[in-house]
Amino acid sequence: KEGLAKTRENIKTKITKLVKGRTEIDDEFLEELEQILISADVGVQTTLDIVDKITERAKNERYASEEDLNNMLIDEIQKMLSDARDAHVVDFDAPLPSTPYVILIVGVNGVGKTTSIGKMAYNYKTAGKKVLIAAADTFRAAATEQLEIWAERAGVPIVGQRQGADPASVVFDSVSSAVSRDMDVVLVDTAGRLHNKIHLMEELSKIMRVAQKKVPDAPHEVLLVLDASTGQNAINQAKEFMKSVKVTGLILTKLDGTAKGGVVIGISRELNIPVKYIGVGEKIEDLQIFDRQKFIEALLK
Ligand code: GDP
Repeated sequence: KEGLAKTRENIKTKITKLVKGRTEIDDEFLEELEQILISADVGVQTTLDIVDKITERAKNERYASEEDLNNMLIDEIQKMLSDARDAHVVDFDAPLPSTPYVILIVGVNGVGKTTSIGKMAYNYKTAGKKVLIAAADTFRAAATEQLEIWAERAGVPIVGQRQGADPASVVFDSVSSAVSRDMDVVLVDTAGRLHNKIHLMEELSKIMRVAQKKVPDAPHEVLLVLDASTGQNAINQAKEFMKSVKVTGLILTKLDGTAKGGVVIGISRELNIPVKYIGVGEKIEDLQIFDRQKFIEALLK
């Protein structure tokens, strides 16, 4: 909840102010509500749906008090933001469908990919699983060193090669090692070169082919890391990535630093991909499994 303070401030506090002293909904009210939701980056379509629904209800209902009105609003927003398509929350200590369970992590530089891999490694390890990190971003000079620092913090082994080495070769080494060492999870870091789509696509499909030589159904997940503080830009970035690779889940980072955390809610609706994890700080413990109901409640109640 603390990690979401800024977004909460942006939604909950503004709604409380909007409702203050009112028992009726007029056009001005609806316009302000729309502004609030848009500014929290809930997404334009989701916002319009919410406002429509509330307009409809307001036609037929009377509110006895400011509190009644507030409850109706919160209730309706919560309903609209719920999404049956969400994957149910899977904890780090849940049994894995198969091992080694290979997770590919993609995303452009700076979004928090390295940090998120470190946090995931820590969580899986804490849950009693044997984790290996594959440093397959061989393009960036400091990528492997940065990842080594996180591997050490999490207390898990890392497999890497020199800068400029073939990423697929790192993945082959990693997956081979994971099989022979009986590892549970392999977290594969990849280079985030979105500006060169053809190259990115080729690199990722080669990584997958090579991983499949050792683990035929790898990768089991492809997680895209997005910086939530970039709001709607994160959605555009996701759409670009989805042209190159089949993304199975999202990690939204830096929610602690933004008032636009509403993007977490709109994004899975818009992209039809579930949000799996959210980053709420720079420390190794600052990763949460995304639970939509809890998240919405933290923002509204
Ligand atoms: P990469 O280039 O995508 O691998 O990004 P890094 O993992 O190196 O992270 C970039 C910056 O974002 C670093 O300064 C991180 O500390 C910071 N960062 C990553 N995740 C979070 C988060 O959830 N909250 C905050 N406040 N900072 C984060």
